[in-house]
Amino acid sequence: MCEFSARFGCKVFSDEVMVERLPRPIYKSLKHSVDDGCPLEPDVANVVATAMKDWAVENGATHFTHWFQPMTGITAGKHDSFISPQEDGKVILEFSGKELIKGEPDASSFPNGGLRNTFEARGYTMWDCTSPAFIKEGTLYIPTAFCAYTGEALDAKTPLLRSMEVISKQALRILRLFGNTTSTRVISTVGAEQEYFLVDRKNYENRLDLKICGRTLFGAKPPKGQEMDDHYCGRIRLRVGEYMRQLDTRLWELGVTSKTKHNEVAPAQHELAPVFESANIATDHNQLTMEMMRIVAKQNGLACLLHEKPFDHINGSGKHNNWSLSTNDGMNLFNPGKTPYDNVQFLIFLCAVIQALDKYPELLRVTASSAGNDHRLGANEAPPAIISIFLGEHLTSILQDIAEGSAHTEEMIGMFETSVATLPNLPKDDSDRNRTSPFAFTGNKFEFRMVGSSASIAAPNWVLNTIVADSLEEFADRLENAKNFDAEIKSIVADTMHNHGKIIFNGNGYTEEWVEHAEKLGLPNINNSVDAAKAMIQDKNVEVLSRFGILSDIECHSRYEILLENYAKTITIEANTMLEMVKRQILPAAMRYAGDIAASYNELAASGIQNAAMKKHLDKLSSMIDCISQMTEMLEAELEASGSVDFLVTAQNCRDKIIPQMNNLRDCVDNLETITSAEYWPIPTYTDLLHRV
Ligand code: ADP
Ligand code: MG
Repeated sequence: MCEFSARFGCKVFSDEVMVERLPRPIYKSLKHSVDDGCPLEPDVANVVATAMKDWAVENGATHFTHWFQPMTGITAGKHDSFISPQEDGKVILEFSGKELIKGEPDASSFPNGGLRNTFEARGYTMWDCTSPAFIKEGTLYIPTAFCAYTGEALDAKTPLLRSMEVISKQALRILRLFGNTTSTRVISTVGAEQEYFLVDRKNYENRLDLKICGRTLFGAKPPKGQEMDDHYCGRIRLRVGEYMRQLDTRLWELGVTSKTKHNEVAPAQHELAPVFESANIATDHNQLTMEMMRIVAKQNGLACLLHEKPFDHINGSGKHNNWSLSTNDGMNLFNPGKTPYDNVQFLIFLCAVIQALDKYPELLRVTASSAGNDHRLGANEAPPAIISIFLGEHLTSILQDIAEGSAHTEEMIGMFETSVATLPNLPKDDSDRNRTSPFAFTGNKFEFRMVGSSASIAAPNWVLNTIVADSLEEFADRLENAKNFDAEIKSIVADTMHNHGKIIFNGNGYTEEWVEHAEKLGLPNINNSVDAAKAMIQDKNVEVLSRFGILSDIECHSRYEILLENYAKTITIEANTMLEMVKRQILPAAMRYAGDIAASYNELAASGIQNAAMKKHLDKLSSMIDCISQMTEMLEAELEASGSVDFLVTAQNCRDKIIPQMNNLRDCVDNLETITSAEYWPIPTYTDLLHRV
């Protein structure tokens, strides 16, 4: 084995390591839990824990942590060492099955959306044995799910794990109907393409807005942005290339399958795409990827920006969540098959997605909502805020033909053999040309393009799993009870197209016509997070989530509160950061600059020269300073008035009052920047940030 492949996953407690280190029966029992989702026996856990600890210590770890994903969007965990003091004053290294399986962090310090008031503040973390443990910076990381003591989910992963079971069960029912007796599990697979910006660390350190908020709150349009389209897939600069090399190495050691890297559309913007894997592991690996991106950047004198809109005037960053379903024996259920019969199975799964998106567009939309992503969705760079599916003309017309075909059984079967049999020839490339769709079928998977670059991908995937399972359950019920299987299939396709076909849109999603047409079709166009959050308490959504045991009524409500609270906190922090920058950096600099010009003007006047340009410049500066201080006071007043005991009112105030006032203040400051001497301007400009790496 070459060194490169030996290093891949060298910090992961992988299947290979388990085979090597666990007694055969223990390994089999653990595998059974991982593959079939069964609980782990305590004796098994003890043996696994000891093997894990020994392996971790041999590989330089001294601590372990239950790694979890609270609803802060990032990961958390406290680190405990393996040491256990003995009576003789010495220590031994210990790690029990109990410690592996369960931890008890204090849940009250994490967002819980009102659950704190109703329930005990204690929480616990439960080992998720389906995602492998790994070593990072001397600590053994154990992926876990995080719940309140009373069982309510407090994290991003618990509903995802629940949804993996649900989709597997319903998809298997369909497969059995098509004669598949061998697959035992259906897994949702995900590959998350991650966009990011890299800026010089010194410039980053000199921008309070970047440090605190992850985005620039000020910054005049630079002379050169992305208008030349010369960055996309262009030559990777040496410094960035070195960064990407180190990042890949670190990720590969952790078992993250980083595969593709390239420059993105905006200057200083890049992308990393991994090879897809199970949704659960992909979610953990995307978090690790984001963490590593930040760490490696810092080590290289760079800063990695994962915010959805770090800069005005140029593209923001998203995450393309590629989603599909696959059997445990490797069959991709969205791969059009080779025989007409396989194709029919494919069409059923396709219809399940169409129906799911049309029934629950608000629920999918809310998984891409955040204060940061509000800057993207609906602007001319990201998909519109309207959920629709791109299938391509070919596939759409096949579905339409079947839906409109004759009801006679014989003819219908004939039709399957003709029109449906053309599917294997589907020109795959053709299906992915449309980059304006929020949800595109790309040949053998769906690409959900709305997700924000900084967001966890857990929610988009637990929603997809759940709403598609909802359709599959309905179809399986129908097919299991059908007198004529083929006729029932046709009627499923027909019903899907008649009732839900409006969600299919193959045109340009960026146009005004689409926005108008979508409104006529009754497709929701939700362009801000405050309105999007409502989906979490919408009856039909709560119904489907609780029916499948993904989130209870209470859990849905808590997530609604958390979304709104996170939104309001983000906006308030941004507004306060603006105020601090204006009052302590921008206004003082502008005043100093104006004062120095005034002094020069007076000196000239003393020598008999009245310079008109200087006077004009001074007048302009002076009125801009006035404008800024007035806007500052107004923003302060809005902030003062915005807080309310009602979290919805607070969030609405942020959206309707604070953001417009922040924009006004920003306009004044950006104008000032364009007429202030570079020597005096207190913060790095857009050109410094975008063209200095
Ligand atoms: P692009 O979207 O740029 O055309 P690709 O089609 O090569 O790029 O793939 C994009 C992402 O989709 C990659 O992360 C890849 O691993 C992922 N992907 C490919 N097949 C699947 C699948 N069956 N399930 C989930 N993700 C997939
Ligand atoms: Mg893509």
